[in-house]
Amino acid sequence: MTFPISTKTIPDEAVSRFREALGDENFSTDPVICDGYAMQPFHKTEPGCWINRPLAVTLPSSTEEVQAIVKICIQHGLRYKAHSTGWGAHGGAGYDNVVQIDLRRMNKILEWDEKNRYVVVEPYVNCAEIQAEAMKRGFNIHIHGAGSVCSPLANATSHCGMGWSGISTSTSSRNILGVEWVLPSGEVLKLGTCGSISESAGSRWFSADGPGPSMRGIMRGWAGADGGLGVFTKMSMKLFHWAGPKETAVKGRLQDLVVEKPDNFRITLCAFPDARSYADALFKVGEAEIGFLQCKNSVALMLGAMMPRMLRKIHASMNVKKILDACRHQFMFTIAATSDLDYQYQSQCLEKIVDDHGGIVLDAPAPLHSLMYWSFVRVSLPPVVFRMGGNFFSTFGGDEAFDNCMEQARIGEEIKRQFIASKACFDDLADNPWALIYENGLFGHSEELWFYDHRDPEMGRQVDDYAKACADATLEHTLGGGGFAFFKGGEVHDILGPAMSNYHIWQRRIKKALDPNDLSDSKFYISSD
Ligand SMILES: Cc1cc2nc3c(=O)[nH]c(=O)nc-3n(C[C@H](O)[C@H](O)[C@H](O)COP(=O)(O)OP(=O)(O)OC[C@H]3O[C@@H](n4cnc5c(N)ncnc54)[C@H](O)[C@@H]3O)c2cc1C
Repeated sequence: MTFPISTKTIPDEAVSRFREALGDENFSTDPVICDGYAMQPFHKTEPGCWINRPLAVTLPSSTEEVQAIVKICIQHGLRYKAHSTGWGAHGGAGYDNVVQIDLRRMNKILEWDEKNRYVVVEPYVNCAEIQAEAMKRGFNIHIHGAGSVCSPLANATSHCGMGWSGISTSTSSRNILGVEWVLPSGEVLKLGTCGSISESAGSRWFSADGPGPSMRGIMRGWAGADGGLGVFTKMSMKLFHWAGPKETAVKGRLQDLVVEKPDNFRITLCAFPDARSYADALFKVGEAEIGFLQCKNSVALMLGAMMPRMLRKIHASMNVKKILDACRHQFMFTIAATSDLDYQYQSQCLEKIVDDHGGIVLDAPAPLHSLMYWSFVRVSLPPVVFRMGGNFFSTFGGDEAFDNCMEQARIGEEIKRQFIASKACFDDLADNPWALIYENGLFGHSEELWFYDHRDPEMGRQVDDYAKACADATLEHTLGGGGFAFFKGGEVHDILGPAMSNYHIWQRRIKKALDPNDLSDSKFYISSD
């Protein structure tokens, strides 16, 4: 196992200035502390679990302290990288001269505005905390698919945003309202109405675009800059109506939950004879504007997450494999009704649509109500995806019309079959897209999951080959923009850009204009030259 230890050091003067700005206890160059930030096996295509060790770790507690860190880095030519909940390589040092900005001390919910339906949060508040407080007020939030233990600010300002309830709550880019942003120059920019109303009138964070040109497209497009464009210190996000109870009594943990499912919630699995009827039914579900949550969790994903040993054994039996394969065209669907009439309406719409497309609606059996109701609402299960192989990777994922998403899934499966044959990843029956529609079917998402063990050098080595094969297929078949290939940084943008209105040229200009010295670590974004 090799540790990419930096040979670079921080100048003494910079160390003194960091200590002065943050206090001794909030700054460290101790290799033991720094290595804690370098073990990041998730979201990388290189084998192994180590990324670069940061030169130092900083723990700011305020926007002013973040500004001070950025200014010290500028003065001494040091790169820096912010992370909030820090779940993957994309939040750590991409190079060997990076100061890690760990935002865990900025952990407050700052403001609730129930009338205008938004909440203002700092970077280290996670979705679970906000949701629990929101429910007490009769509201819910969009939780992206990484699960409720992640920072919604990190996701919405800087990463992606697709999530299980996308049919009713869309994706993070549509949930972000105002932000406070420490630019790579060290100045603070406020976006949304929070930036446009005077102090005396009180700051209002309810609309994403204040008067004047929108900067949201600079801040993030399909994805954010993954820490490559400065540091976000506050965010306002939308609140949605919550049809469930204000408080829920929960016993047990994760897979052993005991919770009472409210009568106004219905949890179903809708299964179809083939891919066409499954997709067409989804278009109709969207048009009917029903549903709280919809997504395809493939049979492999469910088994791999909940019963990984069983999934491995199943391969011995071709017949069982065939039976499971017959169940592939399905999605989970949850109704959260606001009245008895609403429950009947949504239920009858769903049943008719599924029936019209030759499918069946299976209600979750009572023993599974607890697990399915609460883990769907809380989005608490995503981390169990690591159980199958120790790690996972994902490809495609460019959000598009759902028919295009179906192609992403079909071609992704074809590509993966070849890798399964060479044992580059675990056999997940190949059909393992995580797919959903947003905003009542306006657009959709599909990503092809890949279970592997990063401790196995051969498997680790082939992640990159798989990522490249999927990026090539994206171009060849016009599969929904770059999707997750974007996270490969500059080299992939240069390949995809010419096919997509030369966006890479504009993205580079944005990077250069805001960060001419390329100090905001852009390994997962784009460099300025
Ligand atoms: C099991 C699992 C499932 C996942 N599923 C989904 C999914 O369905 N949808 C989805 O969108 N993502 C998904 N992801 C990826 C995940 O979105 C991100 O990892 C998550 O959004 C943010 O959590 P994090 O702890 O990784 O954030 P962090 O590592 O803190 O940040 C994510 C990125 O944003 C940057 N960043 C964080 N905070 C700031 C800040 N304040 N200012 C500037 N830059 C910042 C970081 O440098 C990093 O590049 C999944 C991840 C896992 C592990």
